[in-house]
Amino acid sequence: MAKQKPGPMQTIVSLCKRRGFVYPASEIYGGIGNTYDYGPLGVELLRRVKDAWWNRTVTAREDVVGLDSAIIQNPQTWVTSGHVGGFSDPMVDCKLCKSRFRADKLEDAKCPEKPSKRPGECAGELTEPREFNLMFKTNLGAVESSSSVAYLRPETAQGIFLNFKNVLESSRLKPPFGIAQIGKSFRNEITPGNFVFRTREFEQAEMEFFVPPAEEAQWYDFWRTERFNWYTELGIRSEKLRMREHEASELAHYSTATADIEYEYPFGWGELEGVACRTDFDLKRHSEASGTDLVYFDPQTKEHYTPYVIEPAGGINRMALTFLIDAYEEEQLEKDTRAVLRFHPEIAPITCAVFPLVKKEGMPEKAKEIEASLRRARMSTFYDEKAAIGKRYRRQDEVGTPYCVTVDGDTLADDVVTVRERDSMAQEKVKVSELQTYLFEKMGSWSRPS
Ligand code: ATP
Repeated sequence: MAKQKPGPMQTIVSLCKRRGFVYPASEIYGGIGNTYDYGPLGVELLRRVKDAWWNRTVTAREDVVGLDSAIIQNPQTWVTSGHVGGFSDPMVDCKLCKSRFRADKLEDAKCPEKPSKRPGECAGELTEPREFNLMFKTNLGAVESSSSVAYLRPETAQGIFLNFKNVLESSRLKPPFGIAQIGKSFRNEITPGNFVFRTREFEQAEMEFFVPPAEEAQWYDFWRTERFNWYTELGIRSEKLRMREHEASELAHYSTATADIEYEYPFGWGELEGVACRTDFDLKRHSEASGTDLVYFDPQTKEHYTPYVIEPAGGINRMALTFLIDAYEEEQLEKDTRAVLRFHPEIAPITCAVFPLVKKEGMPEKAKEIEASLRRARMSTFYDEKAAIGKRYRRQDEVGTPYCVTVDGDTLADDVVTVRERDSMAQEKVKVSELQTYLFEKMGSWSRPS
């Protein structure tokens, strides 16, 4: 039988495992359904994504500050926010094979017993949908009782609302201002899947932007555009992205308007990030339930009001997956095909690889010296002296390294290295003394070849 070409998702999954981006978790024990660990390159990719998000959302702005709140909060938090009562997905069971599916995603689901079939397509009858709460429960302290029940947070946002007053009083900000947070969230998803797209443990990047109620529409516009542009400026192809406004029937109970930034994944269009108008729902509810006044007093206008909230909320792992999928290309060359990840240099796990052309004549020593100087400049580097130079270039193309620096005879004679660019494969001679400036300039002016 002819060897079948793997589908685009399988290609990404196998590249991730082979090159150290993502491994199945607990693999030596047979795994633990749809849970993943990030390897050396994956962890660098996640860090780049988080840094890019933080730099853009917090560091570059004078009106947003950061927070790192606890994963386990007072359980009343989740009663007040509505998660205990209503954070659920509708679930159906197959009466024949006992598999469980999300009732609202049946069209995307595959039966684990008969992967060629959709639920209900076999002889198995499905039960009526019933609600399944997605929060993970745990117990605090040594006694397991109903009074010790606590929850792992299903979103980072509530930790921000609980600290609204603390931040306001300690930071001297006034609306409009935002509080941003990156951290782990946990959801006992009925059907995790599509690799790291939907998992039960994941990292979120959320920002609650508190505004005077009259400015809600203007800031909703602003954050939708800002978040969309962040993706395209980091190299995601705009034709693969779209903004989808929620229908009134889809809106969460706290929201008056929500838009999803969607990406066209190999398995279809899916939510990458949501931007929601959360009104004053959360602050008012926490105010009432806790007895702590979360109203803002504007000393200039002498007005008291509960700010409205605009929330951009994305998943770091889903963003990283999207950058991977979007960057991946198989380029047809004269003699063969090369696999290349066209990461933006800000996102690439390795910025610059350094090679000696051959393993002799003092080239390895010189290459290591150059690599060390780039490391000191906080550039992420990789040293490789094994295999033919062409092969080494290809290995770096496949993990998305934008620049390779080769030390050759010219380096020893004239202190000149060869810089090879990933996208064009063009090579240029650069003086060692000018290498750092050259690379930083290249990184700053990068654009994706069309
Ligand atoms: P979905 O409809 O896909 O279940 P959601 O609308 O419940 O997602 P939000 O609560 O808006 O998601 O969460 C914000 C972001 O967090 C999502 O846009 C996504 O990027 C990420 N996210 C949510 N659930 C998961 C998950 N199970 N695994 C990975 N990322 C997730």
